Amino acid sequence: MGDQVTGALQAAAEAIRNADRLALACHVGPDGDALGSMLGLGLAARNAGKEVVASFGTPFDVAPPLRFLPGLDLLVPPADFPEEPAVMVVFDCSSADRLGELGANAGKAGTLVVVDHHVSPDDFGHVALIDSTSASTGELVHALLGELGWPIDAGIAECLLTAIITDTGRFQYQATKPETLRIAARLMEAGAVPSKITQNVYEKTPFGYLKAAGAALERATLHPEEGVVATVLHEDDLEANGIDWGDTDNLIDLIRLAEEADVAVLAKVFRDGRIKLSMRSRGATDVGGLARALGGGGHRLAAGATLTGETPEEVIQKVVSMVEDYR
Ligand code: AMP
Ligand code: MN
Ligand code: MN
Repeated sequence: MGDQVTGALQAAAEAIRNADRLALACHVGPDGDALGSMLGLGLAARNAGKEVVASFGTPFDVAPPLRFLPGLDLLVPPADFPEEPAVMVVFDCSSADRLGELGANAGKAGTLVVVDHHVSPDDFGHVALIDSTSASTGELVHALLGELGWPIDAGIAECLLTAIITDTGRFQYQATKPETLRIAARLMEAGAVPSKITQNVYEKTPFGYLKAAGAALERATLHPEEGVVATVLHEDDLEANGIDWGDTDNLIDLIRLAEEADVAVLAKVFRDGRIKLSMRSRGATDVGGLARALGGGGHRLAAGATLTGETPEEVIQKVVSMVEDYR
């Protein structure tokens, strides 16, 4: 952790310690890192006597695999979130627009603290605890709790270990460092049980997901020249099989198995015409840069963007034609 991050850690801890009330938010469509980081800090703050609310932008729905997380009772719908919070902390979120409608609340916050590990976040927040070398936001929250001197109980540990496990792909991605594993070990000692987390997140799914994934795999196309594998998942696929978008977060990990491709692309097509792209790279391609060029964001090896006004086939063709520029 560099000097700059250490300074930010102290500043973030001070802002949080001095607050009686904390308003917490994370990016829309929260993953394990966003939700686990936010709830982990929220539970610790509540234990420290703070009044805590936590939320995220519409659709206000926790993905089924994350519904085991402790601290879900801290969540309030975005409409009930304080309009002008005195102190607001945002997690795993690199720009105001990733907060959905809560971006407006962040704009009016007395003190806005950003806790994140994205590479090139927008310049937002009064206190920016940002470390792009961290594999997860959860590790930064762990450091923040250390700085605050707030105890980590079993529930908090479970939230933070979920954040770390999901963002490191169960410790398999390159961002995983020795310190990541040391923190995970400490969280286990505090009572978190990795097998409980992985069973909830990775080892169970509604049967309908198998059918929807089958449809998406059937449609997959390989672009061998450009090294891209791509497919499309339609909202109709979900409805036909009785599942939600939140059940499909691991589908990209099936697509990316194609060894011929450096880049895997999943285009999720919503009824309203929006297309949410999920992209992964084996290493040769900077999909984060590519996603930013499409108005999205993310990391070098995992990124996304939301587009409108084009068919999924057009969007995929666009990505295929762009990958060369990001190698
Ligand atoms: P996902 O494919 O949804 O798992 O997203 C992978 C990563 O890409 C996330 O961790 C985010 O950092 C980033 N990301 C996904 N969608 C967007 C978006 N619409 N705008 C900015 N960043 C995104
Ligand atoms: Mn995230
Ligand atoms: Mn993250």
